[in-house]
Amino acid sequence: MRRRTLFLVPALLSGLDSGAKLRGKLVAGRKLEVGGRLIALESDDAVGKVLDDERLIGGKLEVEGKARGEGNFVIDEIHTKPLYVFQSGERLGVSYWCEICYIRTYSPGKCWCCQEDTKLDPKDPNTPDRKP
Ligand SMILES: [Zn+2]
Repeated sequence: MRRRTLFLVPALLSGLDSGAKLRGKLVAGRKLEVGGRLIALESDDAVGKVLDDERLIGGKLEVEGKARGEGNFVIDEIHTKPLYVFQSGERLGVSYWCEICYIRTYSPGKCWCCQEDTKLDPKDPNTPDRKP
């Protein structure tokens, strides 16, 4: 296979180890399709659960982190909120919401309080962590 240079959107903050952005279509198996090429995504467990969320697979996703070698990208840890989706042209942070407890989380699954499934609820990263 021919080797190609990984295309990365330069981050606003330069000189940091992290801070690269990668945008593409989320593919099942924790991969991102960027310009017809599949990039393998590495992450912590909480971010990995988001990458496995079938509500997000097939959609456009932006991830923050750093490239590692050819065709690999390591996503920043979940607490840095490194995942974004696009809805009606708006860039929204991936988050989840429990409508019973009014608790927001950043990884899918059961609400830690009531054990109900949380709802996918992307939100503007500049608004506070509560329901508008
Ligand atoms: Zn709950």
